[in-house]
Amino acid sequence: AKEQDRNNFQFFSREMNTKVLERMMLETSMRKALDREEFFLVYQPQVDVRSGRIIGMEALLRWQHPDMGLLGPDKFIYLAEDNGFIIPLGEWVLRAACKQNKAWQDAGLTPVRVAVNLSSKQFGQQRLDEMIASVLMDTGLEPQWLEVEITESAIMKNAEQNATILHKLKEMGIALAIDDFGTGYSSLSYLKHFPITRLKIDRSFVRDITTNPDDAAIAEIIIAMAQTLKLNVIAEGVETRPQMEFLSFHNCVEMQGYLFSRPVPAEEFARLLREGLKY
Ligand code: C2E
Ligand code: CA
Ligand code: CA
Ligand code: CA
Repeated sequence: AKEQDRNNFQFFSREMNTKVLERMMLETSMRKALDREEFFLVYQPQVDVRSGRIIGMEALLRWQHPDMGLLGPDKFIYLAEDNGFIIPLGEWVLRAACKQNKAWQDAGLTPVRVAVNLSSKQFGQQRLDEMIASVLMDTGLEPQWLEVEITESAIMKNAEQNATILHKLKEMGIALAIDDFGTGYSSLSYLKHFPITRLKIDRSFVRDITTNPDDAAIAEIIIAMAQTLKLNVIAEGVETRPQMEFLSFHNCVEMQGYLFSRPVPAEEFARLLREGLKY
């Protein structure tokens, strides 16, 4: 038994060490990665299924790590949030997304809005609104083509201060989407205190929407609520035709998900904009 315990302990501590080392390695290399241009954005189309047209795109962050390969945001965003790197990284994401969108517009492609994810930590940043304003100024993108996506919990973390910032963004003409809607906060009263323009129905309700009556009911309620409050509503994580049909039957016509396209690199997204989606 003792032998067994010792083995377990060794196994455990070796595994812990790997985790700790991996974390340290990521944290160190993160700081160099911006200069080394290892970060890049992929874009996922947002579709109006009535026309089949792309009406927007979500910019999603990727990291081509020199040793660890391609990393998705779930591998490193939480670290960047812990160590403060999310501030320069978040600004880089916004700048890259706005610059790309402006370049596509200048090239004569159909103008679409670009949605950028904001971390709650970026709200702690001094003058988030000024940072965003200067990115728009520098890139020349008109504010109507930018949307920021924020989760309910990020908004509520510092509700009063965030309301002030978000109202400034609204005055600038920037759209505000609530990400992962339905998963975060139990009270809905915040909806009237914030200048929200769009609700994003979380993927977890969409997944079983055609088989699970509870998920279907929640989705229908969110859609009805958006209509009453005169907000746009978009469903994320749409993977199948029956999911699409259910949602559009219930008057949710904006969608995003693998059925239409995975998130793709910039060149490929430009091709989708030119040639349209096939789904
Ligand atoms: P999110 O904002 O909810 O983004 C949607 C995620 O769902 C993306 O994962 C996307 O690739 C994935 N997805 C899209 N369509 C489908 C589908 O049909 N089925 C399934 N199963 N998944 C789908 P990704 O790119 O790995 O991003 C994960 C999360 O990382 C994002 O969740 C977002 O919270 C965060 N994130 C991504 N980019 C950024 C960024 O630039 N800044 C910050 N702060 N967070 C980011
Ligand atoms: Ca999002
Ligand atoms: Ca989401
Ligand atoms: Ca999410």
